[in-house]
Amino acid sequence: MALLLEDRKTLNKLNKLLSINPGTLEIIGELEVTTEKEIKEIVEKAKKSFKEWASLTIKQRCKYMKKVSDYIMKNLNNIAELISKENGKPFVEAITADIMPTLELIDYVIKNSENILSSENINLGKWNLLNKKSYIEYEPLGVIGIISPWNFPFSIPMGQIVMALTCGNCVILKHSEHTPFIGLEIEKVFKESGLPQGVFSVITGHGLTGSQLVSSGLNKIVFTGSVSTGKKVMETAAKTLTPVVLELGGKDPMIVLKDVNIDYASSGAVWGAFTNSGQVCASIERVYVHEDIADEFIYEVVKKTSMLKQGIGLDKTTDVGAMISLQQLEIVENHVNEAKSKGAKILIGGQRNLDLPGYFYKPTVLTKVDDSFKIVTDETFGPVMPIMTFKNDDEAIEKANNSIYGLSASIWTKDIEKAKRIASKLQAGSVNINDCLSTYALCQTPWGGYKESGIGRTHGKFGFMEFVQPKHIHVDYNYNTKKFWWYKYSQNTIDMFENFLKFMFSDSKISSSLKFLEKFSKNKTI
Ligand code: NAD
Repeated sequence: MALLLEDRKTLNKLNKLLSINPGTLEIIGELEVTTEKEIKEIVEKAKKSFKEWASLTIKQRCKYMKKVSDYIMKNLNNIAELISKENGKPFVEAITADIMPTLELIDYVIKNSENILSSENINLGKWNLLNKKSYIEYEPLGVIGIISPWNFPFSIPMGQIVMALTCGNCVILKHSEHTPFIGLEIEKVFKESGLPQGVFSVITGHGLTGSQLVSSGLNKIVFTGSVSTGKKVMETAAKTLTPVVLELGGKDPMIVLKDVNIDYASSGAVWGAFTNSGQVCASIERVYVHEDIADEFIYEVVKKTSMLKQGIGLDKTTDVGAMISLQQLEIVENHVNEAKSKGAKILIGGQRNLDLPGYFYKPTVLTKVDDSFKIVTDETFGPVMPIMTFKNDDEAIEKANNSIYGLSASIWTKDIEKAKRIASKLQAGSVNINDCLSTYALCQTPWGGYKESGIGRTHGKFGFMEFVQPKHIHVDYNYNTKKFWWYKYSQNTIDMFENFLKFMFSDSKISSSLKFLEKFSKNKTI
């Protein structure tokens, strides 16, 4: 393992990227890093391609998206295999969490984009009486840079790319240094659909490459990754006033109420905390269970955790795969060790899985933790579930909201009306009642965070809006009558407006309207 890390460091210095399977530590391949000069050329090419691409109708652009979908369907197994190999996730999750949401999103975009992006009339209220009309046209922005993480290496960038392209933008993707071959596969998927040259490109590299893309004069950056990198992206983007969407980390709470179906909720907790090895922005990272049912709930969670099989992603019976890197594994180890040293009780797991060759941490459940522990406050991003208790709903809400993050949250109960009341009080971009995580795959709904979990939204109507410029067009059909607020000004103009305001915004409607009409008749425009 040490040799391999050294190899990676040396290659990085040589402007190369080494991709490995984190489950087996086998080398997948080596790639050249895109240089700054090449990035500039790619950006120029995209800018040139924009005019023609933007001039197509949405229907024409959707035809390309359909070809993208067909290509994915035809190559389902190969794509899923690559995702599982380069990311380390179970093969089944490559299909359910990467490919399925992508196909679903393309279908949604094809069926709904024309309607969502068609021009929209605005009701002008009183001003309608003056025969004025306003409407909005949604115009593409230009060239969009998309910077992606490795955890859902296909579904996250694919969804953003498809929406951005359909809106008429050109796109440049900088994929994660941990999953560069999936980046190339995405390039191929779009190339095979016959997209015109320069409309979509992929660049390869580390953080520096991402930073070079951010400062290359694009029209928007859509970044998905950690809070610390997100802040750097925003700082760099500020220098050129490039707008950003930031989809950042989370520390998502699960609230389990007293009346819950314990069998159902404990299964949900185990899946929500350990799927993708817990490397999900919306993983269940903190559990708050009502104290009256805590023992039974914890017993079920531990029992079900012990039934999980950890292994190589391509082994079709693997439930929990590898972690992406040694660095990520060490963060998990650090959080768990700190918790242990402060008196946490490890009920299962709590250490690396050394029976397997790659970066594996055993699914871990722990209790006797509180918000003085990193495992409760910081994003752990690993297969770890800290469980705490609460006495009443207010305490659960307060504990859930006590975080710098606010991506998603979940409430588990049979009392749906009560859960809705709690949901309204939670500071999170998405609140699930009796489910978790899967709303990311509901492409019809907005995805994004409160607080440090991010800025802006992807998916759904709000996601589309991030990729367009709303242009307001105003028409005055009264093109012969000069406006009464135009020159020239006089005391009469002031009196006219005073009465106009009284008529509009006070109770003395009749007298002010008469006075207004009198002043209006004397008003002189030039
Ligand atoms: P990361 O921040 O380390 O990297 C994300 C991407 O940014 C990578 O492509 C990386 O090369 C690039 N990058 C690094 N430094 C950069 C810089 N200075 N300028 C521009 N780009 C730079 O995150 P990661 O480890 O790849 O992903 C895990 C994180 O992503 C977690 O915090 C997770 O919660 C978050 N995430 C959020 C969402 C969401 O939708 N909110 C989804 C998935 C992952």
